[in-house]
Amino acid sequence: MACEDRYRIKIRDPYNSYTEYMFQVTHSDGEKDIATLKLATDIIEHNIPSITLDLKYDKTAPALYRCDYNQSDLDLVAYAALEVEREHLQAFWVKWHSWISAKGTRAPEMDKILVQLEIPCVCGNPHRATFGAPTLLSHIPPDLVNHCLLIDISSASLEDRLNCLASKTEVMSSLEKLLIRWHFICDQIIIASPFVGHQYMSAEDILAIWKWLFRNSDPRKVTVITRGEAWADLKEAYSDSAMPYEKRERYGLPEKIITKGVTLRHFHAKFFAGCSPEKVELLSGSANLVRGPSLENISFNTMPATRFKKKYLDVLCTPLPQAGNVDRVARAFVLSHKVWEYTILKSESWI
Ligand SMILES: [Zn+2]
Repeated sequence: MACEDRYRIKIRDPYNSYTEYMFQVTHSDGEKDIATLKLATDIIEHNIPSITLDLKYDKTAPALYRCDYNQSDLDLVAYAALEVEREHLQAFWVKWHSWISAKGTRAPEMDKILVQLEIPCVCGNPHRATFGAPTLLSHIPPDLVNHCLLIDISSASLEDRLNCLASKTEVMSSLEKLLIRWHFICDQIIIASPFVGHQYMSAEDILAIWKWLFRNSDPRKVTVITRGEAWADLKEAYSDSAMPYEKRERYGLPEKIITKGVTLRHFHAKFFAGCSPEKVELLSGSANLVRGPSLENISFNTMPATRFKKKYLDVLCTPLPQAGNVDRVARAFVLSHKVWEYTILKSESWI
């Protein structure tokens, strides 16, 4: 039989015979009736336009991490140090990739990998950079360095960095980097902004901000709290598209991260929070979700989860959404004395 030929195989009832090894194929050689069996004709298409999580570290934006001692930018220094280790790290990862692949379902749960290494700084003090990467398995191990996203640098206080005046554009860039950090270190993320864009923006430009939000938000972790008007703008922006909002909602697309703000008529606060049981990191300020040159004030601080609930969520009468899967340990590749080692880090020591 030529490779291009179609042929029939017999499977047990396709609805009830599905196992982790796929359908149970029954032996059909020599069966006389095989040519007369009906072919399955149901086709399910999953081609609904959707925006999926796509975190990318913008290396052209102002650095999020700056040295506590001399204020020098460290983001690019960290990426440069990682690049130096590209080959050694990949060789180490390839061994782990083989091990995880061989273990199959018996491999430890490992949806993300942390990569830690010390980076040079003109201050002369040690800084430890931590990157996060999703565990991507494939027949050829993906290049780990290409998937590493910077999530922390030690001795680079975010309080020092983010208590300042900054342009709207810089606030959005900092938020984008914080969202990357929070997707790796927090259980839940809250984005509270009464408006998305502003009233003089076109529907197209407003939709572009929403799409930015969806690319940077895992719906299992992120909740957006906004006013009814912003919600209406989003629906309006989608009304002419091939997939109007109501239809997207029916299919459970990522846009479901939005909590409609109908009860929050007097809500004008803007805050962005990465929440864990241990602590909450909070960026707040005067900026809505929009880019632009005008200056805004921002502040960053951390507080216990109980205090955040009392001072923020209870005031908004908004309960904290149910936590998703909570990781209390992280599997990490750590560069120690020029050798990559595997270790398990407990949550309090990740960063
Ligand atoms: Zn330094």
